Amino acid sequence: MPIPTENVGSLPRPAKLQAAIAAYDIGKITREELEREQDAACRDSIERMEATGSPLVSDGEQRASSFATYPIVDTLAGTGLAPNLAADGQYFAIFTDGHHRQLPRLTSGPFKYKTFAAEYLEKAKPLATKSLKQAVIAPSMLYLLYPLDGEVEGYSREQFLEDLCNECEQDIRKCFAAGAQRVSIDFTEGRLACRNDPRNPWTGRKMLETFIELNNRVIDRFSAEERKNIGIHTCPGGDCDSTHSADVDYADLLPSMFKMNAGYFLIQLASEPDKERVYKLIGEHSREDANGVPQVCFIGVTNPQNPRVETAQEVCDDLVLASKYIPVERLGSTDDCGFSPFSIDVKPKHVSPDVARDIAFKKIAARVEGTALASQKLGVA
Ligand SMILES: [Zn+2]
Repeated sequence: MPIPTENVGSLPRPAKLQAAIAAYDIGKITREELEREQDAACRDSIERMEATGSPLVSDGEQRASSFATYPIVDTLAGTGLAPNLAADGQYFAIFTDGHHRQLPRLTSGPFKYKTFAAEYLEKAKPLATKSLKQAVIAPSMLYLLYPLDGEVEGYSREQFLEDLCNECEQDIRKCFAAGAQRVSIDFTEGRLACRNDPRNPWTGRKMLETFIELNNRVIDRFSAEERKNIGIHTCPGGDCDSTHSADVDYADLLPSMFKMNAGYFLIQLASEPDKERVYKLIGEHSREDANGVPQVCFIGVTNPQNPRVETAQEVCDDLVLASKYIPVERLGSTDDCGFSPFSIDVKPKHVSPDVARDIAFKKIAARVEGTALASQKLGVA
């Protein structure tokens, strides 16, 4: 079987769509007018991703407020926030360029999704001729909606976690029911959990093991056959061409991360300073048998934060080197991250979001071509 290749999820929203979101937030355009722009951006995303030759496509999350907040709010500015949430939650992350992203705060129970990812998938399906993948958010990210200390009145932490796991399970099941071939769970908070940033208190609470157990509480509800197509994405963040935890050593994350019983992992790697060391760590810690599924390791071969387009030969060389440490039947390729996990993102290193979109499709095309080259070279084409 050729080496599989898969995108993480998001693409930059066109400048026109970002302007429409801002106009919707201040009441200048209607919901229907915003949806027309979202429809156009989704159609363009799928058509251009199909043109790269990618075997799997997605709508690039063009309708989502962000990879993390789509279930609970319509826009990043807070329009359509669920009634039992307040805007003033904890920081999700503080990025190296100094900007931050903040989560809402749960004020009462029960916790419910307003929007499931399958709703995006249902709209994407008629536009695609290839198989679709869908990214969903991890329970460990939404865990941060509950106050770090104390309890929400009348709604215990354990009751919240039970509701949260049920919603996350439904989010994944609905994607498969709507026709997704693959569902990957965004787990960017994993690496950040290994960092102790005094400006962002949750990062200092050593929550990685809590996160892993919580995610397994959901993942273990699926059969081995289902878990083959359930992935985990790890990265050091990617927003406004900046990261939040690239200084965390993968050796602190990977041994725990592979305890999650997922069938595949989408792992940022192209932007790592010492890739070979990380390939080796992946080879050592990924499991041949994670409760009935082999863990397939998709290594990042393109960097969405950097406008330089990788060549197919570079992609091929990365995979060939990785195959020294990761068995080729458990090796895949991916992008380091989504290209714009948050809907409002000017992509400052790329001149504009529209230029960043053009570059994203070139990077995806190089990944697809380079992965085919590596498959030939490694005798699995
Ligand atoms: Zn990412």
